[in-house]
Amino acid sequence: MPADRHNASTDKIDQCSSVNESDPDAAAALARVRAEADAAIAQAQQAHTRLRDAVDILPHGLVFLDSEGRYILWNQQYADIYKRSADLFKPGARLADTLRVGVERGDYPEAVGREKEWIADRLHRLYNPIGRHEQNLSDGRCILIDERRTSDGGVIGLRVDITELKQREASFRLLFDENPAPMIIFGRDDHAILDVNQAAISHYGYTRPQFLSMTLRHIHDCDTYEELKLIGSSVQDYAGRTWKHLKADGAIIDVAIYAREITHKNKPALLVAVIDITERKRAEARVAHMAHHDALTGLPNRVLLKQRMEEGFQRMRRTGKPIAMLCIDLDNFKPVNDTLGHSCGDILLQRVAERIRAVVQEGDTAARLGGDEFAVLATNFGEPSEVTALARRLLADISEPYDVMGQQMMIGVSIGVAIAPGDGNNPDSLLKNADLALYRAKADGKGAFRFFEAEMDARAQVRRRIEMDLRAAMLGNVLEVHYQPLVNLANGAVTGFEALIRWPHPERGFIPPSEFIPVAEETGLIVQLGAYVLKKACTDAAQWPGDVKLAVNLSPLQFRTGSLFVTVKQALEETGLSPKRLELEITETVLLDRVDHVLATLHALRALGVRISMDDFGTGYSSLSYLRKFPFDKIKIDRSFVHELAENADSQAIVRAILSLGSSLGITITAEGVETESELACLKSEGCDEGQGYLFSKARPQADVLQMLSPRAVRAA
Ligand code: C2E
Ligand code: MG
Ligand code: MG
Repeated sequence: MPADRHNASTDKIDQCSSVNESDPDAAAALARVRAEADAAIAQAQQAHTRLRDAVDILPHGLVFLDSEGRYILWNQQYADIYKRSADLFKPGARLADTLRVGVERGDYPEAVGREKEWIADRLHRLYNPIGRHEQNLSDGRCILIDERRTSDGGVIGLRVDITELKQREASFRLLFDENPAPMIIFGRDDHAILDVNQAAISHYGYTRPQFLSMTLRHIHDCDTYEELKLIGSSVQDYAGRTWKHLKADGAIIDVAIYAREITHKNKPALLVAVIDITERKRAEARVAHMAHHDALTGLPNRVLLKQRMEEGFQRMRRTGKPIAMLCIDLDNFKPVNDTLGHSCGDILLQRVAERIRAVVQEGDTAARLGGDEFAVLATNFGEPSEVTALARRLLADISEPYDVMGQQMMIGVSIGVAIAPGDGNNPDSLLKNADLALYRAKADGKGAFRFFEAEMDARAQVRRRIEMDLRAAMLGNVLEVHYQPLVNLANGAVTGFEALIRWPHPERGFIPPSEFIPVAEETGLIVQLGAYVLKKACTDAAQWPGDVKLAVNLSPLQFRTGSLFVTVKQALEETGLSPKRLELEITETVLLDRVDHVLATLHALRALGVRISMDDFGTGYSSLSYLRKFPFDKIKIDRSFVHELAENADSQAIVRAILSLGSSLGITITAEGVETESELACLKSEGCDEGQGYLFSKARPQADVLQMLSPRAVRAA
């Protein structure tokens, strides 16, 4: 703290007092001068105190030095900043001396090792102030020094403790430089890149000098830069969007940005942290692709097809251009899969997909709906004849042989076509109708295409009605089993009965099995239905004489469940019917699918003692080859041959051939559908073993059967 200054007015009084002490006038003048001097001193002291008070309330350190660099005045803050040297601050003491002592004490880390030089430099700055400079103290503080020369040659100096500011700045630098996220600072007005961190350098691949010579335009993909120019670059404009940036190697990355407005070297700037979301975007795109495409073939899936159909319908409403839906289904793909293995099946599906894709035109959609079902949505045609041509092309191309893992392979295909607006006014109905047409193509013998016709829909509705009624009938235990006798043609004796399902419908009377068995097969109800017939028939047959056999029909679908053997065994065990009395009738379609599995089941049933018959013989394609696959106990000649027996020489020849086949293979031959005496006579003369038909009896309920058998001893079960 400065002491009271020596005052010039006191000297003046001293002079006066020595001149004349005894003179009263002079004494009075002296007293006046003294009084004036005291007043001046008091005033000066007051002014000084005010000045000290004023400098003391300043938040920063303040020092006044005279032209010789001696302390005149300093405030408390100044003394606090230099507290290690505060003992040296005295009025009249020289700043140069305090500096020297301070340097000796090690108060100025920057002076260590170059003490003289440092002091000289410091003093040079003191007398030639050119602006602010910073000074580090040994206790870690940083002081901003601002000095000016005063008019009397002295110096007025300001000291600001900027330690905290410096620390904040250092933290920011650390946060910026060491941040793992790439960070870029650019000018808000000119987009010039002002600073980047290490992560940005490594991520983008530009060197720091390259970065600092660029503007945003250089790192933005053209499109997003145009966008940026349009919207400006404030935080709101810039952040929260996805931009495309250009790396040094030319790669374009998707980035999300977090931005802050800052002042960088007195310029309004934006500090942005860059998050590279290229991978995330790619993953999202992959997921989106997966959600819309089939993994095996890469074709659009049902979801995407539906979307395209929606678009097609919208376009159609605008332009009136029709759209066509082609449902494609491979014929007998399942056996390929089962016999050659799934990997082979997969490759075949991929090849089929390739061929479909090669046929469709640009703008059309080829899709895989699942399994061996494909579809084509055609939107670029003028006449329906063009759709016919497309269907033909698909049919021909898909049916060409394939080379799969060195194996030559052929696959048939059926196609159903529906054209909007005529065949459906929304995607669902168009797809449903194309499916109905496909169903018809399949039913008509496969390897063909069919256009949708309104009558197909009516038939589908009937099928649905049957399904509902059948479920109800099964639940209500309405279904009956009737029995049609099998007659030994040589002696006219009834050898057994074929169980035939009967459905008495409250409105429609008896519904023929040909109407509802296919529906039961389509819906899977056949498994339950078959088990029911088997159990009921075995129960009834157990009441017949021991030499009377029971024949029960099996659907191919019953072989698929894998539980057929158990079902048969249980029915026999629970009813006590001898396995020797049971004949199971299968048609050759049973042997089309999963042959090994079917044959194993048949052999297992045979081992139980059950006999196996081939039903409807002659109606399929290759019956003779099936006879080689399994040693059937009986062949039933389809009634279509028997019916024409009397008139048709070809039928006679076929029946004769089957009969001779039977006798040489030791297989019983039964003729189905014997209606007339002439047919019977003909069969007898050809040596047919057994007959079945309206001539003998229609299928009858158990009560009638028991009566029919009554002359013989009817055995209690
Ligand atoms: P299927 O096994 O060939 O049965 C013989 C069919 O010929 C029976 O028809 C029978 O009523 C009919 N039929 C018998 N004699 C004559 C005749 O002299 N003239 C004519 N025109 N027809 C005769 P239904 O009962 O309508 O059965 C048709 C087909 O339905 C059966 O052919 C069989 O394949 C199937 N089916 C019947 N019941 C069952 C069953 O319980 N399960 C299974 N899976 N299929 C069954
Ligand atoms: Mg039958
Ligand atoms: Mg038959």
